[in-house]
Amino acid sequence: MKKETLLAQSGSRWDFRTGSVSMPIYQVATFRHPALGESTGFDYSRSGNPTRSVLETTIAELEGGSRGLAFSSGMSAIDCLMRIFKPNSHIIVTEDLYGGTYRLFEQYKDYGIDFSYVDTTSPEEVKSALKKNTVALFIETPTNPILKVADIEELGKFCKENNLLFIVDNTFLTFYYQKPLELGADIVVYSASKYLSGHNDVIGGILVTKDQELGERLYFFQNSIGGIMSPFDSWLVLRGLKTLHLRLERQTANAEKIANWLENNDSVTKVYYPGLKSSPWYNVLIKQSGGAGAMISFEIKYPDRVPKILAEVKTFLFAESLGGVESLITFPSVQTHSAMPEDLRKKLGINDRLLRLSIGVENYEDLIEDLERVLK
Ligand code: PLP
Repeated sequence: MKKETLLAQSGSRWDFRTGSVSMPIYQVATFRHPALGESTGFDYSRSGNPTRSVLETTIAELEGGSRGLAFSSGMSAIDCLMRIFKPNSHIIVTEDLYGGTYRLFEQYKDYGIDFSYVDTTSPEEVKSALKKNTVALFIETPTNPILKVADIEELGKFCKENNLLFIVDNTFLTFYYQKPLELGADIVVYSASKYLSGHNDVIGGILVTKDQELGERLYFFQNSIGGIMSPFDSWLVLRGLKTLHLRLERQTANAEKIANWLENNDSVTKVYYPGLKSSPWYNVLIKQSGGAGAMISFEIKYPDRVPKILAEVKTFLFAESLGGVESLITFPSVQTHSAMPEDLRKKLGINDRLLRLSIGVENYEDLIEDLERVLK
């Protein structure tokens, strides 16, 4: 089946007893056993819940992996993933990644795990960060908020040659546009709070592994720690998935128009959008992805205008997060990336002129009109 069909019917074929086309919400903590030593397959909802389990299976299939695991947040998924690393391990990481991931990794230094933050769009930089105790490469692509694109296949080969676990945060493009597991990744990470759920009403996270055994190791920690996605949130994500393709296509089409418009605006000095032909990452993006997605960052000429822009937008909502049907505007240096030290932010270009847009499904003319008014 094609991905659009699988998406539209997410959770629709699992309730064999009633034939319900919407996966029911099993709002339950524990399950009655038929007899001693017998189980229905479900015992206790931390270990497994039918609604969560259908979501986990559906995403694993869509991503092309063998095991999916759903968590209470993207950060909880990443934290669970970190439990598989032993003290004295070293991990190479994308330098301009989500500030919350950076903040978490910095805490793991106290547990003997070391990190090198590098520009993972440069294979040379990644190679030169390799140490004897390097065990993994963790990348975001496109990155947050500069939207740089790394060559997943090339990094996958490097990881294979050096026996590294290759982890890709696929939150920005999703499996609809980009399938890291097919390009050499071992684990895909998601904040399901973004495109997968798509309506700014869920906080959730997902891990998908290529290999069943790695999936089992992660399941051990998911079950032991219990940072699981609730049945209701699992249902909301399943419902979101049904329209992922429609939303993403519309959001991307809107973003392309808005990025082109921003590129020609006198108040704007730089536009970061990998779908622009002028982007240094355009070629690698089209080689590995079916679309550029709907995130745009841009720099404005006069940074002192930022408070006014954020206060005066009417169609855009001034809020953190991304990937929902509503368009949001964010100021990364004081919001999503405030946990990063200032010198690193400066080096990466996360400065006081940089604004980030998450484009929704509204009419693009309304969005452009809003930007035109506040940028004037
Ligand atoms: N990964 C990326 C790329 C993100 O943007 C975020 C949150 O913004 C996360 C992970 C963390 O996810 P959550 O906010 O669901 O915990």
